Amino acid sequence: MSTIQTSDLTKRFGELAAVDGVDLDVAAGEVLCLLGPSGCGKTTTLRMIAGLETVTGGEVRIAGKRVNELSPAARDIAMVFQFYALYPSLSVAENLAFPLQAENMSKAEIENRVEEVAGKLELGDVLHRRPGVLAEGEKQRVAVARAIVRDPNCFLFDEPLSRLDVELRMAMRGQIKEILSELSKATVIVTHDQLEALTMADRIAVMRDGRIEQIATPHDIFAHPRNVFVAGFIGTPQMNLMQGKLLQLNGRASFNLAGQEVSLDLTGGAGQLRPGDSYTVGIRPRGLEPLSEAAPGSLAATVDLVEPMGAETLLHLRADGQDIRVVLDRHNVVHEGERLHLALARDKLHLFGQDGGRIEA
Ligand code: ATP
Repeated sequence: MSTIQTSDLTKRFGELAAVDGVDLDVAAGEVLCLLGPSGCGKTTTLRMIAGLETVTGGEVRIAGKRVNELSPAARDIAMVFQFYALYPSLSVAENLAFPLQAENMSKAEIENRVEEVAGKLELGDVLHRRPGVLAEGEKQRVAVARAIVRDPNCFLFDEPLSRLDVELRMAMRGQIKEILSELSKATVIVTHDQLEALTMADRIAVMRDGRIEQIATPHDIFAHPRNVFVAGFIGTPQMNLMQGKLLQLNGRASFNLAGQEVSLDLTGGAGQLRPGDSYTVGIRPRGLEPLSEAAPGSLAATVDLVEPMGAETLLHLRADGQDIRVVLDRHNVVHEGERLHLALARDKLHLFGQDGGRIEA
């Protein structure tokens, strides 16, 4: 069974814990994306799974078997790197056949397999060309084809699409996802591109400073971020995160937000809140709606900048020195300098405690 597990996986470089107690459990057929800012330990985690980096502590298991002591080759995994690592002097067909030559297959079997995989990745017309004359998207497809041509235990991808332009990336995201879904292998993809993770992953592991902050489906990570870091990291434009003191609880929860008293409907979780304490109130830019006049619970802010984004418009507003981002349908005409009263959509509110942890409210 194709599975990848890590338990308490740790890597120290001198004083630095680059990976600090990472637990992952990737099922057969599942695509897990490791997502996080530069330097958070994604690549080091992947390299330890691959056997390209030694482990300081913890365990890696592939297909249920401990592999800490095994060489990369003995782990029987296929890797796709940011840099394609194709053999420049070999044709595409020869590049694809290369991993099969160690597998004791007949020439005819190899040819069949190469053709089959080339077909899947639409490489039939370029099989006899050398990588140097291929377009970037074709090179990327050859790299993916070469990874799947064998029947490895599992797949590891390191920023596979980072060299492609925006349009190609979009196309390749879909293609890779489709191909992986046919293969029933455990797959780990490292990326710092959240759109890539949101579209390709069955589950996303958000990392920071060597640790996992949250592992969940793309939808859950977006709808229920476990803490302020994940809330601010996932979603574009970024979620508005406003610090505010809870003034009182009287059916609604009144906060001092951006210098104003804003009362929010937090029925459900309000029992956990304590007046006088500070909280972080999160609201996504698409969860704020302009009202024609001030209303209970609305937040007043002045438009600083209007940024058209095609079908939508991104507004930057200011309230008491705080930047508030609002995304509106482009039909809403708003001018710089205008004062808006914004309603906060109940179902798009997120609340975090002083330790940054989510409060279900
Ligand atoms: P990026 O997206 O920039 O590649 P990453 O999340 O993949 O970042 P890693 O490359 O895993 O992060 O690096 C994690 C930390 O470990 C960083 O602080 C990095 O500088 C450090 N590091 C990585 N490899 C080494 C090494 N060989 N020696 C010393 N420090 C290292």
